[in-house]
Amino acid sequence: LEKEMARFERLHLIGELAASIGHEVRNPLTTIRGFLQIMRGKAQENREYYDIMIDELDRANSIITEFLSLAKSKSIELEVHNLNDVIRMLAPLIQANAIVENKSVSMDLGQIPDLLLNEKEIRQMILNIARNGIEAMQPGKNLTIRTRAEGDEVLLSIIDQGCGISRECIEKLGTPFFTTKEHGTGLGLAVCFSIAHRHNATIQVESSDHGTTFYIRFHIGSH
Ligand code: ADP
Ligand code: MG
Repeated sequence: LEKEMARFERLHLIGELAASIGHEVRNPLTTIRGFLQIMRGKAQENREYYDIMIDELDRANSIITEFLSLAKSKSIELEVHNLNDVIRMLAPLIQANAIVENKSVSMDLGQIPDLLLNEKEIRQMILNIARNGIEAMQPGKNLTIRTRAEGDEVLLSIIDQGCGISRECIEKLGTPFFTTKEHGTGLGLAVCFSIAHRHNATIQVESSDHGTTFYIRFHIGSH
């Protein structure tokens, strides 16, 4: 037990250190981005280089953001929410992501009891999973977000009609920095798994050539 405690404290320390480095690195990035934008506005040539530099800075920034939410400790504030309300609030953002790529999103929200949730984290989790689904689909395809009450659980399913995930990739899902995308961070699902863990929820994945479904199960009356 003593060893476990020491390990926990060490991890906690590393987490805090990582968080403060993340915050400190972000400030200079923001400054550089600001100046690059000004320079791009005035540039006569090589404008595409400025675009690349700004995109890469944004990527570094999102790696830090996602890493920070991984380094977060177990204790978060939970409040009573209905998952359907959280999804309805988030829907326009997900729709916007889909529409620019000529894809659609539909909602199938059933009658479900309230849960103890951290709204911000649950929004992040749904958004990360839905974005992956949208990215995996060809134009014209549809993503469905479904909620159901099942016994003493609330089941959230995010169903895409995308390319599917191979067997060897499924095992790596949630491993930090695992990505098959040229510009992926490989942190999106790692963040989702840690959010689910903090909510005492489980994530299961089912995949075929016709698409992938992420099942997230919440316990009613506990967290
Ligand atoms: P990123 O999106 O930055 O690559 P993620 O952690 O969100 O990182 O996802 C990791 C990898 O899991 C993706 O690169 C992709 O290969 C695979 N993946 C996740 N969700 C899906 C999905 N719905 N359909 C197909 N592949 C997926
Ligand atoms: Mg992703």
